[in-house]
Amino acid sequence: MYFSTFYIDLRELLINVFKVMQYIKCGAEKFEFEIKPLGGLCKRCQKEIPVVSLTTQNLKLCKSCFNAIQEKRVYETVKKFRMFNKEDRIGIFLSGGKDSASLATLLKRLFPDYSFQGIYLNLGIGYYSEYAEKTVRELCEKIELPLFVYNLPKEEGFSIDEFVFTNFRDKICSVCGVIKRYLFSKMAKALGLTVIATGHHLDDLLSTYLTLFFNGDFLSLKRLSPVNLPLYPGQAKKVKPLCQIPERELFYYAILNELPLEGCACPHGEITPAKKIKFLIEELSKENRTFKYQLMSVFLNKFLPLLKEEIKEETQFKPCLRCGEPTASANELCNHCRRIELLERVKDRRLELTFEEWLKYSQGESKESWVIFDVREKEDYLKGALPEAKWISKDLLENERELIKTFKPFRDKNLLFYCYTGRLSYFFTLKLRKLGFKAYNLKHPEEIFNKVDTLQKNV
Ligand SMILES: [Zn+2]
Ligand SMILES: [Zn+2]
Repeated sequence: MYFSTFYIDLRELLINVFKVMQYIKCGAEKFEFEIKPLGGLCKRCQKEIPVVSLTTQNLKLCKSCFNAIQEKRVYETVKKFRMFNKEDRIGIFLSGGKDSASLATLLKRLFPDYSFQGIYLNLGIGYYSEYAEKTVRELCEKIELPLFVYNLPKEEGFSIDEFVFTNFRDKICSVCGVIKRYLFSKMAKALGLTVIATGHHLDDLLSTYLTLFFNGDFLSLKRLSPVNLPLYPGQAKKVKPLCQIPERELFYYAILNELPLEGCACPHGEITPAKKIKFLIEELSKENRTFKYQLMSVFLNKFLPLLKEEIKEETQFKPCLRCGEPTASANELCNHCRRIELLERVKDRRLELTFEEWLKYSQGESKESWVIFDVREKEDYLKGALPEAKWISKDLLENERELIKTFKPFRDKNLLFYCYTGRLSYFFTLKLRKLGFKAYNLKHPEEIFNKVDTLQKNV
């Protein structure tokens, strides 16, 4: 369920082969899109067979009219909010997902002679960042966008996953956000960008507005808009050209235009408060198709101007003592650097060990201090497994209550997980680390399975 790539062949539409395209979002929500002729003619051109319907209006459209409508929306948004012009150097942050892929494609189509730079931040998320990077490379080749890849573990010596060793262990998505914002500024400086464009869409913006509203955080609310001007000299302007497009339509756009996509394979797909609110907004839109646009209009045209009148205080920025980036933090370190310092206090941040490393690592400890878990299919476990290994079902990963119940007896032990490729057992390792267990993943398990003599038959 974590990983999917899509291909569609539009010729197949002509021979009426129906295809259901699926996309798994972070937080395990699923999008489905059945590509099939919808009957009648396209409402806009009155010529072609419609294949897609706008979610906000009951309007059935052919592929080229659907594209034209989305392009018009983005073009008008860029112009209305004066997001950038030809003199700007515009960075587009790509994640491998549908939103940033659609953003890059739309901007390249609409402004062919503008200066765009694709950027991918490889955050070292195990068994995920590499897949996503491959997808981003494919996309950039397809749409002829120059790409700059920044590898966090190589450049700065830590990965996002290592925060499972800190108090942020169950708030990885929030730490990831702080680190990314810091890297956005850093990349902007290094690449001479004047504008940063991100793939935030209508649903993203609305759910963030409402989350901030419910928290009473009006200062942050005031600062959030389709265009964020630099807060201090030298900072790049941040723009959200997709802020008028509902999320589902970006999924349709990406599929219809055959963009290389990665479903959410990020092992940290946490259910954040903003994701819960997104679900509520979706429910309300079922009653009223224009609900999202009404809400957006209230925020942009009524509420934000009121807040701007009311909240006048000017934030004082001081350079962070560690990285030198301007910070409004009362503490003398910026949010990013405070988190890094926390991470640096943890000396041993190993999550993965090869078999040889594990033998060395566990040497001198009593045998009882380690418990080994096999998360492969049961029949393969029975055929041969590591000595003393216990079998557990991979389904436990989806059931946190059962997971905690199963591992409770092993609270003070070291746990070693393995599977076929290391990927699934790595997800177990992260999940249990987040729950406070001392879990490790066995790297390159295939090397062990090749040495049959180390295995023990369990039948
Ligand atoms: Zn049409
Ligand atoms: Zn700093």
